[in-house]
Amino acid sequence: MSHLIHRQLRHTPPVADGGSGLYLRDSEGRLYLDASGGAAVSSLGHGHPDVLAAMQAQIGKLAYAHTAFFTSEVAEDLALRLAQDAPGDLDHVYLTSGGSEAIETALKLARQYFVERGEPRRSVFIARRQSYHGNTLGALALGGNEWRRRHFEPLLMKVARVAPCYEYRDRRPGQDVHEYTAGLLRELEDVILETGPERVIGFCAEPVVGATGGAIPPTPGYLRGVRALCDKYGILFIADEVMCGMGRTGTLYAVEQEGVLPDLVTLGKGLGAGYAPIGAVLARQHIVECLRAGSGAFQHGHTYTGHPIAAAAALAVQKVIRRDCLLGAVTVRGGVLRRMLRDAFGGHPHVGDIRGRGLLLGMELVQDRENKHAFDPDLKLHMAIREQAMACGLIVYPMGGTIDGRRGDHILLAPPFTVTEKDLGEIVSRLQDALERALASVR
Ligand code: PLP
Repeated sequence: MSHLIHRQLRHTPPVADGGSGLYLRDSEGRLYLDASGGAAVSSLGHGHPDVLAAMQAQIGKLAYAHTAFFTSEVAEDLALRLAQDAPGDLDHVYLTSGGSEAIETALKLARQYFVERGEPRRSVFIARRQSYHGNTLGALALGGNEWRRRHFEPLLMKVARVAPCYEYRDRRPGQDVHEYTAGLLRELEDVILETGPERVIGFCAEPVVGATGGAIPPTPGYLRGVRALCDKYGILFIADEVMCGMGRTGTLYAVEQEGVLPDLVTLGKGLGAGYAPIGAVLARQHIVECLRAGSGAFQHGHTYTGHPIAAAAALAVQKVIRRDCLLGAVTVRGGVLRRMLRDAFGGHPHVGDIRGRGLLLGMELVQDRENKHAFDPDLKLHMAIREQAMACGLIVYPMGGTIDGRRGDHILLAPPFTVTEKDLGEIVSRLQDALERALASVR
């Protein structure tokens, strides 16, 4: 029996024993092609020598110094790199140990900003019904994922909700996409007005949705419309790029493709690419300057904030992405993977949608394509796909259950940026096997 508390308490998962490039190996010697980089984390694959070398060098120099007393050269260098590469004046960086902590930090930074501006009545965040922003209490409250929230509801702060931007499910047949988008923005404005704009702190959304819907990009102009509404009512736009950021969609930040500048951006996953637990919040100048000129302190902090080894890993990842021109590679290889998925599954009776950006791609499974009916959630098709994929030596990220009162099974593919065309062919062929086996197992 394992002494670890695993997600599934009735069985112990295989023991991961090694990783190299695209492959993970378990203690029985089985190899798994990691086509989702865990959960869109491993953007450089496993065991990248440059990242390992940077981490080893940092351990030899300085493993830890508490940020209440010191900063470190490597954390400063990482912040400089992130600030230089970020759009607009998103040039202040707070380092965390992961995505949820980045969200908590962004929520507190946003709230303190308004307190320091003399607007303490602002206390409400708006987020989307179908959304995931992490599992700590503030992040869980922000997200709209019912089954994750279920047991903890009484502990969660109140959040105002709007519909997600989910064209496949919500755009009516024959409805113009601009009309659909305008409807979403009208709803957001209505919710701002109902709440009272003077009480709203900010609106938080993932530019490209990951864990609650399988790589759903925004409709054209949606995020620009969000930005305009935030400007109109003086509220902050928080872009959660924990999953879609750091190059995953082909630009360092997904918002760059929308021509939008958020006030705060959260990062995680791909920032450390799995080599170390690290996340970050990027803040625009006016937010940090307001605190600097006001109380002079940000009322926040964690023991492992700005950890030097994690910072060294993230900095090395950034350097490799730039040196090896991997952003361009993401766009090209993402296009190839999407074509392969369309060829393999475009006519499949149970694949309703194939979508995404760059190397963040998803497929939505349906009972029948015509009316988009989902499978019975009790069948847990997404879990069957995960199991069958593992049996075929493939890791894909499953999502399913009932979200926002809607059923759905999705799978997410997010291979490393270094994936080759041959690897992509292998991923798709193993996925075909896994899907057929999974469908057979639930029939
Ligand atoms: N935000 C988004 C968009 C995510 O996808 C996730 C994790 O899946 C988080 C936040 C939480 O990040 P973490 O699991 O590192 O706490």
